[in-house]
Amino acid sequence: MIPQARAALRKLASGVAVLTYRDGEHAHGATVSSVSAVSRDPLLLAICLGTGSRFGELVGTPGARFAVNILGAGQARLAGWFADPRRPLGLVQFDCVDWLPDGFSGAPLIDGSLARLGCEVRSVTLAGDHHLVVAEVVTGVPGDGPPLLSFAGQLHDGDLRSLPERQAHPYALEEEPMGAAR
Ligand SMILES: Cc1cc2nc3c(=O)[nH]c(=O)nc-3n(C[C@H](O)[C@H](O)[C@H](O)COP(=O)(O)OP(=O)(O)OC[C@H]3O[C@@H](n4cnc5c(N)ncnc54)[C@H](O)[C@@H]3O)c2cc1C
Repeated sequence: MIPQARAALRKLASGVAVLTYRDGEHAHGATVSSVSAVSRDPLLLAICLGTGSRFGELVGTPGARFAVNILGAGQARLAGWFADPRRPLGLVQFDCVDWLPDGFSGAPLIDGSLARLGCEVRSVTLAGDHHLVVAEVVTGVPGDGPPLLSFAGQLHDGDLRSLPERQAHPYALEEEPMGAAR
């Protein structure tokens, strides 16, 4: 039952981001696909990090600051690099990318990312074998282009085709309330 449930959950497509942290010469990055928007006011996001995660330790207390680099379709190799446990520790792990420090968190903002956010941790909760980190988005720079997507255990370039708004759902024209019995 559990393997089937896991396989089912893998059908959830999600964006991919590199989280970054910096304190002077001490810096770290980690790839995640668990970023989700939580609240509009205040603007909050959530991230799930494995309990053994080094990044989780760095942002494990309220007030900690970090950046989120939402990756574009052409940044799959970056996603692999910041997920590789063999990457070196410290600022040197960013030698392979062009970056600038975020004015809010000081963390690396990676050139070419689809969007960049500066965040401050509000709460950290243990959730199974992960920590659920809720953070306020304090700064943001949106970019353009297709996203990098994680789906069914693989990365995909999100070459998106928008659907016409009114035709996106077969019941939309009938003004039927969402979730109504049919
Ligand atoms: C597309 C994609 C999406 C991903 N999404 C997520 C996500 O949402 N959340 C997430 O947590 N990870 C995710 N990962 C995996 C993550 O990128 C890697 O595990 C990365 O190394 C995490 O960096 P870190 O600094 O947080 O943890 P690291 O310090 O690199 O540790 C990674 C994992 O290895 C284990 N580990 C570390 N050191 C040791 C040790 N000495 N002995 C035994 N075990 C050890 C820990 O359990 C830890 O969870 C994703 C990877 C990819 C490619």
